[in-house]
Amino acid sequence: MFKKTIFIATLALLFSCYSNAQKRVVSMGTGGITGVYYPTGGSICRIVNKPGAVHGIRCALEATNGSVSNIKRVQQGELDVAIAQSNWIYHSYKSSPGNPAADYPLRTLLVLYPEYFTLIVPKNSAIYNFDDIRGKRISIGPQGSGSQATMDELLRKKGWSFADFSQVLNLDTAEQASALCEGRIDVMIYIVAHPSAVAREATQDCESRLVSVQGRDVEQLLAENSYYRWADIPGGIYRGNSTSVGTFGVNATLFASTALSEEAAYSLVKSLLENLPEFKGFHRAFSHLEAKTMLEGPFAAPLHKGVIRYYKEIGLM
Ligand code: GLU
Repeated sequence: MFKKTIFIATLALLFSCYSNAQKRVVSMGTGGITGVYYPTGGSICRIVNKPGAVHGIRCALEATNGSVSNIKRVQQGELDVAIAQSNWIYHSYKSSPGNPAADYPLRTLLVLYPEYFTLIVPKNSAIYNFDDIRGKRISIGPQGSGSQATMDELLRKKGWSFADFSQVLNLDTAEQASALCEGRIDVMIYIVAHPSAVAREATQDCESRLVSVQGRDVEQLLAENSYYRWADIPGGIYRGNSTSVGTFGVNATLFASTALSEEAAYSLVKSLLENLPEFKGFHRAFSHLEAKTMLEGPFAAPLHKGVIRYYKEIGLM
């Protein structure tokens, strides 16, 4: 009896190794490990790689520098799918025809959740709005992040440059909170969903507060770009920050390029949407996800044909 059980277990293991070896590996680009892209990518891979899943893909998670770097790497065929801010997907999609770095045009897989332009300062700081950060030591997210690219755009709108600050750093996501708490920077800027580990760290390890980002220049930025919108970071998420903070935001979007096969895009979206209740339980940022609203757009790049096939199949399109 015991021998028979061992024999069956070995056969099952061999079969699962064999079927995993047969699967096409889909690499998933995310962001820094204390952001929300990384746990999001991890949750998607967990669903796709569920034991017994009957489709031909296996998801492999990768930490990266964020949106802009993810977009370049997907366009160059180095990553199969990734997460990025809708504003940068839109810019890259629009400029693809004349962009020699873009071997494959981008395609939307799913709109995931809102992200917020988040500015954090020590509690006793004299900074109360965006204009107050002039002349200070700031960190704006790693090179290649959507945070840094969006900050560049906002500074251009304001007619400011890096020379307007005493120091501009591109700290890694995981280093930003400690730099703020240890007094090495005055301001930490990151575009991220909430709750996020990076903001939690900054508000747990020392006393810090979120600052609102509004005003005429932000208004103009929003008026000129349909992918930005006003957004409130609700109060009560982080220690010492009980009131909501007005800022602006974008949508985190799962995307690929035309190089991803119809079958792979279809299988990925199908496994995720068929397991949506379980997926939503993995992170609070996913709590509002619904198959229907993911279809509402506006899409920063057109939907991938594998996604269209799935939505037609379930009668939502
Ligand atoms: N929005 C950030 C960026 O592109 C990443 C946020 C995150 O990792 O959750 O760069």
